[in-house]
Amino acid sequence: MLSASWEDAIRLERGEQILTSVWGKYELPASKRPPVRSDATFTISIPESKNGYMVFTNRRIFFVEKRGIFTETYATILDIRYEDIIGLSTGGIIFEHLSITDKTDEEHKFQFDEKKPDELISYIKQLMDARQEEIEKEKTREKVQVIADFSFLKSAMQKGGVVLQAISCPYCGANVPIPETGQVFKCDYCKKDVYAVDVFKKIKELMS
Ligand SMILES: [Zn+2]
Repeated sequence: MLSASWEDAIRLERGEQILTSVWGKYELPASKRPPVRSDATFTISIPESKNGYMVFTNRRIFFVEKRGIFTETYATILDIRYEDIIGLSTGGIIFEHLSITDKTDEEHKFQFDEKKPDELISYIKQLMDARQEEIEKEKTREKVQVIADFSFLKSAMQKGGVVLQAISCPYCGANVPIPETGQVFKCDYCKKDVYAVDVFKKIKELMS
């Protein structure tokens, strides 16, 4: 996808925000380079670099390539999730580069005019830590949803001044009494399993 601005070239997920960007060069890894020149005895692969912005969000690192001379267009050519980064290092003798290794073991090299790779490494580490924390929180939230059982449901409703006495079975529509505890019960009529989590969702729909 080509876009007129680098911001438009990035497809953000829900809850994802752009934090910063830095202009630089991305040296394409061997797997992304154009066909190599080879004959029977040797194969060479010529390094190829793209100019553009390295963009940091709260979840990923993007590289947005700038194309065109008279008309500028931008395209995302790389995105790496923080949790998929397995290595960060610096290298190079004349021009220092930043190297990011992803979980497929592919190494991505970048060069910047205005930023030191070291500075970027500590910045990326901060972002990785923050993302890890966020992932842990998401997991805990999911667990809370799963442990929602009928006793929890009843007390939650009562706190809100709602007394829940009977519900209709989500499958057959029959009026069924709500058990005191447990995460699941069998409908007396259709014999299907009714989950507290599903009832909880239904009620939330009704109340909103
Ligand atoms: Zn039923």
